[in-house]
Amino acid sequence: MEIIDGKALAQKIRSNLKNEVDELKKKGIQPRLAVIMVGDDKASKVYVKNKSKACEEIGIEYKEYLLEENTNMDELLNLIHILNVDKNIHGILLQSPLPKQLDINEAFKEIATEKDVDGFNPINVGKLSLNQDCFISCTPFGIIKMLEEYNVPLEGAHAVIVGRSNIVGKPLLQCLLNKNATVTICHSKTKNLEQTTKTADILIAAIGKPNFIKANMVREGAVVIDVGINRNEEGKIVGDVDFEDVSKKASLLTPVPGGVGPMTIAMLMFNVVKSAKTRIK
Ligand code: NDP
Repeated sequence: MEIIDGKALAQKIRSNLKNEVDELKKKGIQPRLAVIMVGDDKASKVYVKNKSKACEEIGIEYKEYLLEENTNMDELLNLIHILNVDKNIHGILLQSPLPKQLDINEAFKEIATEKDVDGFNPINVGKLSLNQDCFISCTPFGIIKMLEEYNVPLEGAHAVIVGRSNIVGKPLLQCLLNKNATVTICHSKTKNLEQTTKTADILIAAIGKPNFIKANMVREGAVVIDVGINRNEEGKIVGDVDFEDVSKKASLLTPVPGGVGPMTIAMLMFNVVKSAKTRIK
């Protein structure tokens, strides 16, 4: 079994991006990412800190907009509209979760498609499903990059995704389909889950349940990608895949941490640079 080193691969991507940012700066373009956070969610704070560190390393300017917990929809949309027309901003990211009074899908709809570096605006979602150029959401994008980097054949492969969320499972389904994989997507209502997961050449777990995928659910030699970020009973970060157990069966396996997580951030940086590059006259 070989471990897919997402951390090292993300580092390589970031270092290539740094060169691209240096070139953009020579042309007078300073790439800039605006991150909107509403309220005081602890996990979100960790995620945005990691994003700001990555921006700093690459030379992307990071601008954080912290809104009060009791922000209303008009106030949130007003900020998005201001950032949409600000020529100095190349990417807008709305950190989830949002407080209950705010409708995240309404907010995603308002982010200008050309600055929607998270790929959650329905226009970008639709373009992905039509296999057109668009911003691809960062976690699925990172997973595809990883598979390609490790020369995992996608064309004709049977990929099984467990999890159908709008941010991971569904866009990943489209990405894999666009690469000519045969894709099955499972969820909490799927019957006989293990019978399906066992047929996967590539198994991707995006469930949110610690160590859910065991060796008996995996085909011998399968490639296994673990998207999950969970805390176990001892407070340790673990994935959705039981790493030790599944490593007996998988040919390639991502660790948690150090797998999909760093790739997600690297692809966010990629999308910001992609957006900034469109400003070259
Ligand atoms: P969601 O909670 O939105 O979705 C979970 C999915 O898993 C749902 O489709 C759900 O089915 C399915 N599911 C839940 N229980 C079962 C079960 N027993 N059998 C089969 N399917 C099941 O989670 P997210 O997609 O947002 O995140 C999933 C995990 O990935 C989390 O741990 C999250 O922290 C992590 N994550 C990691 C990222 C990274 O960069 N590494 C980025 C984003 C998320 P149903 O739809 O029927 O409810």
